[in-house]
Amino acid sequence: MKTKEIRVGLDLDGVVAKHSLGGFWVKVRIIKEAILKGAHSKKYYFPKTKLEQLAWIVINWCRVPDKKGTDLLKSLAQKNFCFFLISSRLKFNYPSTIKWLKKYGLFTLFKKVLLNTKDENPIYFKVEKIKSEKIDFFIDDDLEVLIALCQTKAKLFWIVPGHKNGDENHENKIINCNSYKEALEKIVIGIDKGIC
Ligand SMILES: [Mg+2]
Repeated sequence: MKTKEIRVGLDLDGVVAKHSLGGFWVKVRIIKEAILKGAHSKKYYFPKTKLEQLAWIVINWCRVPDKKGTDLLKSLAQKNFCFFLISSRLKFNYPSTIKWLKKYGLFTLFKKVLLNTKDENPIYFKVEKIKSEKIDFFIDDDLEVLIALCQTKAKLFWIVPGHKNGDENHENKIINCNSYKEALEKIVIGIDKGIC
């Protein structure tokens, strides 16, 4: 009998890819989140000028893979796990993102790399992909995204960013973690114990 495929979705920024700019990046992120507050009303930040877009490409290029998580992901990819990279990075970011994934040997680890190439609302984009790809588990560092994903069947894991407090999560369905390695370990343990 064929073993059931376990479909795990992962966000890219803040999950698979960490930032190497330390405290500076935390400040950038706080500003970015303040701008993104309008996301509830279908408005969201979109870098319009070429200069803004170039700045985001450079910022994203400076990220580095979370090595411990990636090592575990590689070993699970040999088993019955199937990984989907689901990132709301926009169309202008597509070519450099694919190059970045190939540079670090990550591209082939994923069954599908799904980016927001139609520049849709990032939250709706993820909800739609998690449903259409029948994702069993999803890992993200954005609590707002995860709350929206509570309407799906996926079990959800929040990588709590350094500038956030885990107490902000009031959803039983969303499990807090410090890293995506920890989230993957919890998925494996849950499956072994038959509770996932
Ligand atoms: Mg993220």
